Amino acid sequence: MRAIQVTRHGGPEVLTYGSVDDPVPAPGEVVVRTTAIGVNFIDTYLRRGLYPSTPPYIPGTEGAGVVTAVGTEVDDLEVGRRVAWTDAPASYAESVAVRADRAVPVPDAVPDEVAGSSLLRGLTTHYLLDGSAHPEAGDTILVHAGAGGVGLLLTRLASARGVRVITTVSDDAKEELSRAAGAAEVLRYGDGLVSGVRDITGGRGVSVVYDGVGADTFEHSLAAAAIRGTIVLFGAASGPVPPFDLQRLNQAGSLSVTRPTLAHFIADPDELAWRAGEFFAAVTDETLDVHVGNRYALADAEQAHRDLEGRATTGSTVLVPGR
Ligand code: NDP
Repeated sequence: MRAIQVTRHGGPEVLTYGSVDDPVPAPGEVVVRTTAIGVNFIDTYLRRGLYPSTPPYIPGTEGAGVVTAVGTEVDDLEVGRRVAWTDAPASYAESVAVRADRAVPVPDAVPDEVAGSSLLRGLTTHYLLDGSAHPEAGDTILVHAGAGGVGLLLTRLASARGVRVITTVSDDAKEELSRAAGAAEVLRYGDGLVSGVRDITGGRGVSVVYDGVGADTFEHSLAAAAIRGTIVLFGAASGPVPPFDLQRLNQAGSLSVTRPTLAHFIADPDELAWRAGEFFAAVTDETLDVHVGNRYALADAEQAHRDLEGRATTGSTVLVPGR
């Protein structure tokens, strides 16, 4: 089969496309022919060596497709089933071995490219709102990178629950997308951000800040939070946040900071099924209108990484095998 490999740590140029052996299902696994493969920031952190990884390896953790082989000890999936997953290694490939208990059946109404590119972001959105923090109707929250993959889903889901959402974006086209997703107010990054949030909230600040940008925004996130507010630092698109003196949380308003990761909110198969079920239900009943903004052939993963890291994408990014 054809697959992408990370040959060494580095920039997008270390991604190469070539032939590798087909996967064979181990006990408890199925093999899936991929139809859509998700491109996520974690793939870039691992490629750069920011998170531990040992090249050469096939990158990617997310995708969707059709089961083509079933290993022993699997009794609830059969050949032909459409499934999606968020945590199978080596997903940038035409076929992927997926643990059967991590393969989520995809409802007929959900297109492959939505499941394959947005289940990871959808599950993240779900736990950000029902896990890391719990904003309620009437609360005001701040979501950085409001036109990004997580940003659009978070804005839609939170605003559908009656939460008032302020977002940040870098340009007018992204502002338009963010407003269409339900943002009540859209701000630009930079020094005016905090005063903008204070103006909108009558000086109070927001009850929750969702910060997936990291280094460039974290100080503003602290300054934009209300007394007893929570900062959910869930990513590092602009780089990791430097070491931080916890005493500052006291002076800044008895703030809480949490740094969650999806794996800890879907480790239990029942919790995975619950969160995935709610995500797919929201897609099916059109509460969530998933925006897949950027599509690439599997062979063009290098360009996909360039665009994701270069702020040239909106919504979810997908690789399509055989395109
Ligand atoms: P996005 O589609 O949101 O892309 C990142 C966006 O961040 C960019 O489009 C850009 O939007 C903004 N940004 C601001 N500064 C920078 C910068 N210096 N370099 C690059 N981008 C910048 O990505 P995802 O939806 O895939 O992920 C969003 C965040 O969520 C990432 O940090 C990711 O690691 C994290 N994540 C965390 C998970 C967890 O469980 N902890 C799970 C899934 C994702 P703009 O141009 O408008 O500023």
